[in-house]
Amino acid sequence: MKIHVLHCGSIRVSETVPFGGKIDLRSSGRQLLTPAEKRITLPVCVYLVEHPKGLLLVDTGWCREISPDGVYDEKAVKRVLPGYLAAFYRPSLPAGMAVHEQLADMGVRPEDLEYVILSHLDPDHTAGLRHVCRARRILLPEDEYFWSCRAVYKVRQPQKLWIEYPMERRFYRGSPLGPNHWVIDLFGDGSVQLVNVPGHTDGQAATLLRGRDRFVILAADAAFSPRNWQEGITPGFGFDRWRQQKSLIWLREMAEDPRCAAILCSHDPAVRPQTIEI
Ligand SMILES: [Zn+2]
Repeated sequence: MKIHVLHCGSIRVSETVPFGGKIDLRSSGRQLLTPAEKRITLPVCVYLVEHPKGLLLVDTGWCREISPDGVYDEKAVKRVLPGYLAAFYRPSLPAGMAVHEQLADMGVRPEDLEYVILSHLDPDHTAGLRHVCRARRILLPEDEYFWSCRAVYKVRQPQKLWIEYPMERRFYRGSPLGPNHWVIDLFGDGSVQLVNVPGHTDGQAATLLRGRDRFVILAADAAFSPRNWQEGITPGFGFDRWRQQKSLIWLREMAEDPRCAAILCSHDPAVRPQTIEI
C-alpha cells in the first residue's frame, strides 16, 4: 500500500486550536477574535491511498472557490463559509493545491477513486468534495451523519458543502480496536479500518491502514500533533474533552506499537507532503 500525503490548503487559526484544552463560549469567542498576526498557519492534509482494491481518498481539503486566485481572499471565503467560520479558519488554497488539481497532476481522475472517505464533516475536510464527487463511492460513518443534526454541528459543519452528494453511510461495529471499540472494516479484511475516535466530533473516524507488517493511522483531528498524545494536551476545538482524552490515550498506545510506521494528524505542520509505503 502507498499513502500519498497531500496538502490541500491551509488554515490560519489561534494556537488554542491545536493545544487549547478546555473550550467554552468565551474561549470560542477569543479564537474568532485572535488577530491574524497572532495566529499560526497549519496545513490541511488529504491522503491518496493506493490499495490493492482501488484508490482511496481520505478527506478533501478546501475547494478552489475559497481562493480563486490562490491567495487568502476574505470575500471569496465568505461566499463558501458563514462569517464566523471564515473568521475562525482564515483558509487559503494556493494555485494547483486543490485536491482535483493535485490528482490531475498524478494522472488520477475523480471517477478513478474507489472511495472518498470523509473522516468527519467539518468544512476543512468536506469543502473539496465538490471536486471529487464523481468518485465511485463517498463513505461517511453513519454516526457522524446522524449527529450532524445537533445544534453544535449545525453551526460547525455547513450542510451545503456535503448534503447533496449521495453517500454510502455505514454503522460502526463492535471491535476490540479503538478508544470506543467501534470500527468500520472497509473491505472486511482488516486492511482499511475506520476507527471511531470521538471527542472532536461524535462520529469522527481515524483511518487505520495495515500493510504486511506495519500500519499507518490517519488520525484526522483526534490530535493536531504527536505532542497532544505524548503530553496529554487536548486540542481546543472539540465538543467532549473526556472523549478527546480517551482518543489520545488510544493514539499513544498505537504509537508505542513497534509495527506503527506513522500516525499522521490532518493539521500537523511537521507532516510534509510525502509518500509512505507499507
Ligand atoms: Zn480539520
